[in-house]
Amino acid sequence: MEYLKERVSYIRGLTDGLGIDDTTNEGKVLLSIVDLLDDMVDAMIELDTSQSELDEYIENLDEDLANVENEVFDYDDQDGEQNYIEVECPNCKETVYFEEETFDDDDEDIICPNCNKPIYTDDNE
Ligand SMILES: [Zn+2]
Repeated sequence: MEYLKERVSYIRGLTDGLGIDDTTNEGKVLLSIVDLLDDMVDAMIELDTSQSELDEYIENLDEDLANVENEVFDYDDQDGEQNYIEVECPNCKETVYFEEETFDDDDEDIICPNCNKPIYTDDNE
């Protein structure tokens, strides 16, 4: 866009150099055409800037949307199947599996299905 600005400046310099002023009808017309060109280039630069800002905004929006899609996709993926948590029993050293919901209730003891002793998941290593 800057090259358009430069070309208008060049034409304006030309009218100055050639002594074109608004004392003649032709001079009036030429000078107002140069003014018009200048305004049009300014308007185009303004549009170009806001276009770039919009592009950047949409790009960010697209990234955000992709993140949301990933979150939703992961959620859906997990929703269909049960989640099992792998625990090594501290008593019999057997690896046993529990449904994730089993750990939601803190008051309920978690019992090893192998040796029937309680498992404390906080220090099961
Ligand atoms: Zn056990």
